[in-house]
Amino acid sequence: MEKTQDFDPAWLEKYVMPNYGRFQVWPEKGEGPYVWDRDGKKYLDFAGGVAVCPLGHAHPEVADAISRQAHTLIHVSNWYCIRQQAELAKVLVEDVMKIHGKCFFSNSGAEANEGMIKLARKYGVTKPKSDGSPRYEIITFTGSFHGRTFGAMSATAQEKIHGGFGPIVPGFVYVPFNDIEALKAAITDTTVAIMVEPVQGESGVNPMTAEFLRAVQSLCRSHDLLMLLDEVQCGLGRTGELCGWRSIIPGEEIVPDSVSWAKSIGSGYPLGSFWIRDRALGDGNETKLCDLLGPGTHGTTYGGSPLACTVAMATLNVILRDGLAEKSAKLGNHIASEVLTWNHPLIREVRAFGMMIGFELDEEKIAAMPAVKASGKIVSIFVAKALLDAGMMVVPAGPKVVRWLPPMNLTDAQAAEGLELFKATLDQLAISL
Ligand SMILES: *Cc1c(COP(=O)(O)O)cnc(C)c1O
Repeated sequence: MEKTQDFDPAWLEKYVMPNYGRFQVWPEKGEGPYVWDRDGKKYLDFAGGVAVCPLGHAHPEVADAISRQAHTLIHVSNWYCIRQQAELAKVLVEDVMKIHGKCFFSNSGAEANEGMIKLARKYGVTKPKSDGSPRYEIITFTGSFHGRTFGAMSATAQEKIHGGFGPIVPGFVYVPFNDIEALKAAITDTTVAIMVEPVQGESGVNPMTAEFLRAVQSLCRSHDLLMLLDEVQCGLGRTGELCGWRSIIPGEEIVPDSVSWAKSIGSGYPLGSFWIRDRALGDGNETKLCDLLGPGTHGTTYGGSPLACTVAMATLNVILRDGLAEKSAKLGNHIASEVLTWNHPLIREVRAFGMMIGFELDEEKIAAMPAVKASGKIVSIFVAKALLDAGMMVVPAGPKVVRWLPPMNLTDAQAAEGLELFKATLDQLAISL
């Protein structure tokens, strides 16, 4: 790898803010599921930019789409009609959702969620309480992660995300995840929506139970609440289904009111989106839910540029054409059953949803190891660092889970390579038990 002559690694600390706890690896180049650092060391990248790279790095169809569109038209304002938005939205509605509706394009996952939150507030004004005052409370769940903007951060039911930034945005009510009785008890006449990740990513690959997902839908119907699904991480095929919640309840039983996406959608080119269902508002109101955010109510300068939408189209084309969701489902199951045969003393549970796989570690055993104590690191970060040293990128999720988020076009041979590295590293750690 060619090094930039006058580059000094100290610049990162000197000129860039310290808000990320970074691993000291400097990636320079990627290809498929591999990344090379400044020193030419090769890694198997099963972090995938935290679920951002469904086709791996430097995919030729994605790179060509970027290049062609960059030479044609990178950006034009949303004051004008953007063909690529229409094309991409059609694919998202017809081929991904398969439920009538409309899309908005943002730049990130947090912004997509902001849009859903604004939709809920607008709905609560349009369909208020019996005394005419707006409904505005949105119920979210412990362990959730919805993003870092003020609204999305306030929606996130984790003190470590919004602690120190108060007062946060009012109107969010936090309920224990997968607890139907607590959810019922939290609904008041001020409640307007329930917002939930079908498979929680950041807290450790934790799925909604099917009973809970059913309860969310039926409570939304009986109390006239919007059902908002955050599929920023688990959507678009990642879990082995194009719609993440269909890996919990397959088929058409679940019909959300709004769904947000980002991460995988743009192969790393920033883009987010949220979809709103085409249905009447009800109670005699002829307006459709998907038309509730009318002209002037919402917007963004960059969101849905011709370039961003072209990259997303190229990405989704490959996912759909090559059946990568189905392939991910199969490979994810294979990986999980393989790891279970190890009966590994350091692994307590494997939660596999396509190419979103959480390995729950034995926190107590690992935390007690002298090397871990000496490092002062939490268990998931210690193990992720050990894997990194061994040449494998994974993502810590909560205190005791490491996540694999490999490309959805991973081959069996590459999966086997990952399994071998993973096992060898865990075996090495287990020696000190
Ligand atoms: C990553 C993530 C977000 C935030 O997306 P950004 O693009 O970082 O703003 C929101 N929700 C979920 C479920 C995520 O995993």
